[in-house]
Amino acid sequence: GNVVSLRHVSKRFSNGTLALQDMSLDIGKGDFVSLLGPSGCGKSTALRIIAGLGDTTEGQVHWPDGKPERGDIGFVFQEPTLMPWANVFENVWLPRRLDGASKSTVRDEVSEALEMVGLGGFAAAYPRELSGGMKMRVSIARALVTKPKILLMDEPFAALDEITRFKLNDDLLHLWEAHHWTVVFVTHSVFESVYLSNRIVVMAARPGRVAQQLGNDAPHPRG
Ligand code: ADP
Ligand code: ADP
Repeated sequence: GNVVSLRHVSKRFSNGTLALQDMSLDIGKGDFVSLLGPSGCGKSTALRIIAGLGDTTEGQVHWPDGKPERGDIGFVFQEPTLMPWANVFENVWLPRRLDGASKSTVRDEVSEALEMVGLGGFAAAYPRELSGGMKMRVSIARALVTKPKILLMDEPFAALDEITRFKLNDDLLHLWEAHHWTVVFVTHSVFESVYLSNRIVVMAARPGRVAQQLGNDAPHPRG
């Protein structure tokens, strides 16, 4: 089944920019979908609309299992956006804290999320002590700590150097193979989309047009 579908979604910003035009898309359970396209083609806008961070001008976002609640959507931004005054543990705790969960009740959940991203020993570290790649790992742990039904990632590795980026791609792929999360991954990198996803949605330079959807029922390239 599908986790979420976009149906004939258009988005025009108040300044007149048409960012999406008649975009339809199904995200199946366990899919790793890449939204691939050049800068400005509307990838982030589409992702933000799925996340509920922006409304549509026309069309609908349909959640077959009911509207998502807080914690059902994990979002990873291009910038790690960590709180600099809080340590790694406290940063990952944040989404659970917003649910009212105390520090002691989330200890295991936070540790599990940090282990997953390879930062088991870094709970007490502060963001300033971490490399760019490690900060990104913290952001991913923070997005995963609520065990979301869908993980949305907006060019998460674009600001990292090539080697760090390759390492993170590899780790993310292995995590997905182990957990079969549902992921929507925005990228302008053909390499990343081919390496990571079982479906690639190519968005044309003209706003919002889905130029092509590849691999709809295709097996995962490495599975
Ligand atoms: P809407 O029409 O959906 O209400 P707005 O035009 O009010 O959206 O803009 C929402 C936010 O996006 C504002 O904070 C604005 O500064 C910012 N913004 C405006 N233009 C751009 C742009 N080209 N790219 C990214 N963000 C922008
Ligand atoms: P991508 O993620 O593919 O780079 P975006 O979704 O960020 O593309 O932007 C699509 C188009 O919408 C671009 O022309 C961008 O400048 C414009 N845009 C994005 N956000 C806003 C905003 N808040 N207000 C006005 N225009 C925007």
